[in-house]
Amino acid sequence: MWKIPLFDVSFGNEEIEAVSNVLKSGWLSMGPITQEFENQLSSFLDSKYCFAVSNGTAALHLAHVALGIGCDDEVICPSLTFVAGVNAINYTGATPVFADVESTNNFCISPKDIENRITMKTKAIQVMHFAGYSCDMDSIMKIASKHDLFVIEDSAHSIGGMYKEKKCGTIGDIGCFSFFSNKNLSIGEGGLIVTDNEYIEKKIKRLRSHGMTSLTWDRMQGNNFSYDVTEKGYNYRLNEISSAIGIVQLKKIIDYNNKRKALVQYYKKKLSDCFFIEIPFNVFSEKSSFHIFPVLLDHDLNRNQFMLYLKNNGIQTSIHYPPVHTFTAYKQFNNDFLPITSEIGNREVTLPLYPEMKTDDIDYIVQTIKKFMEEIK
Ligand SMILES: *Cc1c(COP(=O)(O)O)cnc(C)c1O
Repeated sequence: MWKIPLFDVSFGNEEIEAVSNVLKSGWLSMGPITQEFENQLSSFLDSKYCFAVSNGTAALHLAHVALGIGCDDEVICPSLTFVAGVNAINYTGATPVFADVESTNNFCISPKDIENRITMKTKAIQVMHFAGYSCDMDSIMKIASKHDLFVIEDSAHSIGGMYKEKKCGTIGDIGCFSFFSNKNLSIGEGGLIVTDNEYIEKKIKRLRSHGMTSLTWDRMQGNNFSYDVTEKGYNYRLNEISSAIGIVQLKKIIDYNNKRKALVQYYKKKLSDCFFIEIPFNVFSEKSSFHIFPVLLDHDLNRNQFMLYLKNNGIQTSIHYPPVHTFTAYKQFNNDFLPITSEIGNREVTLPLYPEMKTDDIDYIVQTIKKFMEEIK
């Protein structure tokens, strides 16, 4: 349907072979391949403890449960994010409190506005490294330590992204990643929760699998006959097929992210004379994972008309994001003074970006955008 889709996966023979090996092995649920995937992620991220889980939302939910967040607690988070992060807060009975983002040039949560939203009930701050560009973690960690708050990093966009010397997701108390199809590391459905804290590690390990003290795999190895259940856990396990794809994809992630970077640079060059389009994170000193390519349309351009024109020319676009505080289910939590979030929510359009995209594709997209501008003049 699309000449150029918003995103695309890159799977080859290696992934097919990895999946086929798992099938031949006869063990499909969480076991040695998942453990290998976790070990490799641990060394890639330089994080002590890594747990693969069924998806990114499960990772975020476990993060809040493991930190003991629940009813009567408040968690400060952006509204300019994917709803999953806010849902995860809600699952525990805690109240999400929205803070605004930094500016129309930096879509990450504003440390200054985080401070404005702190109350006696605040327990944690959940940040999101938008498009792979890291939040101002020094300021955020300082605020957290001053007010004795946990920090959870929603790193769904930012595998391979960095803040100073550290990988995104390894700076706060817990980092959560997603390996959904449209993410930089893609295994269909999957997620990851990481921490350096031994107490949190023990909690997550059991919470991921029904709160049980031993796993099916352990019993298969003859290690245990029975088990205890020490708390109300979940089934958030990942399976071996997905983990096998993950091991292959992880080998390619640096190359994929570099390809994304080159494409973003090419986009920027090509769009530099389009004065009706602003490019956020235009000058950014930290290393991004270049998950998506967001732009802001001029105030007086009609976004629907713009997106429709691109659609009619075979180009898929998206909006990142309709702000969560505007959704029906979240109006009750409305902190309505989120002026920058609202403005970005109205003006943002995401253009296609994926590793195998060609510069010719970008030429075509930019040409189409310029044609649109001429036609509406
Ligand atoms: C994709 C995404 C999630 C959720 O991940 P799933 O694996 O789809 O559950 C959470 N937060 C953000 C910012 C995301 O982009």
